[in-house]
Parts: sequence; structure tokens; C-alpha cells
Amino acid sequence: MAKDQTKKCAHLPCVCVPANDEKYCSQHCKDAGSEEAEIACDCGHPACAK
Ligand SMILES: [Zn+2]
Ligand SMILES: [Zn+2]
Repeated sequence: MAKDQTKKCAHLPCVCVPANDEKYCSQHCKDAGSEEAEIACDCGHPACAK
């Protein structure tokens, strides 16, 4: 894991960038954790919305 890369939400399907030192961009992602079951992120952010 490279440290200097752009931070991405720890929720695998999510492409959002969390704020500050947050690991997840939203409560939705925090609840979903890092499980790979989800194919698409449903956090509601524009980056993930289709
Ligand atoms: Zn997302
Ligand atoms: Zn997220």
C-alpha cells in the first residue's frame, strides 16, 4: 500500500475520497466496511451515483 497515493474510501466499490483522516467517505461505507459483496457503492455521492 503506497502512502502517498490519493486517499480513497476504504469501501472497495467506492471511489469517493474521504475527508481528512476519515477512512470512509460516509456512514454508508462505514457500515458496509471493506466487504467485497457489494458491486456498486450506494453512498449517494456524485462520484458513485449513476
Ligand atoms: Zn461511494
Ligand atoms: Zn465511500
